[in-house]
Amino acid sequence: SKVKDMSAEVVDSNPYSRLMALQRMGIVDNYERIREFSVAIVGIGGVGSVAAEMLTRCGIGRLLLYDYDKVELANMNRLFFRPEQVGMTKTDAAVQTLSEINPDVVLESYTLNITTVEGFDTFMSSLTNKSFRTTKSDSGVDLVLSCVDNYEARMVVNQACNELNQTWMESGVSEDAVSGHIQLLIPGETACFACVPPLVVASGIDERTLKREGVCAASLPTTMGYNALKDYFPTMEMKPNSQCSNTACLERQKEYILAKPTRDAAAKAK
Ligand code: ATP
Ligand code: ZN
Repeated sequence: SKVKDMSAEVVDSNPYSRLMALQRMGIVDNYERIREFSVAIVGIGGVGSVAAEMLTRCGIGRLLLYDYDKVELANMNRLFFRPEQVGMTKTDAAVQTLSEINPDVVLESYTLNITTVEGFDTFMSSLTNKSFRTTKSDSGVDLVLSCVDNYEARMVVNQACNELNQTWMESGVSEDAVSGHIQLLIPGETACFACVPPLVVASGIDERTLKREGVCAASLPTTMGYNALKDYFPTMEMKPNSQCSNTACLERQKEYILAKPTRDAAAKAK
């Protein structure tokens, strides 16, 4: 048959073996560049822990992990955490597990609440730390993943990323775990999290009452998003709101409009 037998190719302990195995899949040709990238993950729960593990297995350069919580026995129905880690902070337990999976990833554990003044300060300074940077960039990270489970924390990630002009992704899963959404947010270019008020704010309904209906209340304004039962995954583009209540968002929107001639020239040159 034409199918190549990969079983004969033993993956040794060389860090590049892992990368080469993925590179051979041929999806991206400069796969080894993944080692230059830093990703910040806020919330190491059901979504964040799995995202962290996948990035670790793919050979990401550096991961910054944020969570205020400790591992509990109640978390054992989820993937990732182990019974002997009960009592450890989620970020420390994650660093322990991830470093065993791939010792080449630079891992940083931040046990903090991003919505407190002190937590927010540490969050901001860690995101701007450029010590890992090999290329010149404004930010210390390449992507922020919001994997939290509440509106307040999402608004804080939104604030930080608007201030830092940092691209980020927001995720949410409904209480019944059947539907969810992913949103890419590029400050100034796409709608920020405050540009379109989510259902819980727009309707004035209490977040806790809504949660029971299987709706992701703290997220997008409607229940749109992936539906696992119907295997339905609608996508849409949301432009920023010129009336957004977030001043940093308005600043990024202005910059984006001002940079239009530069973007056009670059597109023409291609
Ligand atoms: P459950 O849904 O049963 O509560 P969980 O605690 O793992 O499970 P998830 O929704 O899976 O919750 O994950 C969200 C994670 O985000 C949690 O680990 C939570 O501690 C973390 N988180 C939420 N808000 C903040 C915040 N303000 N600062 C830091 N971490 C936060
Ligand atoms: Zn906005």
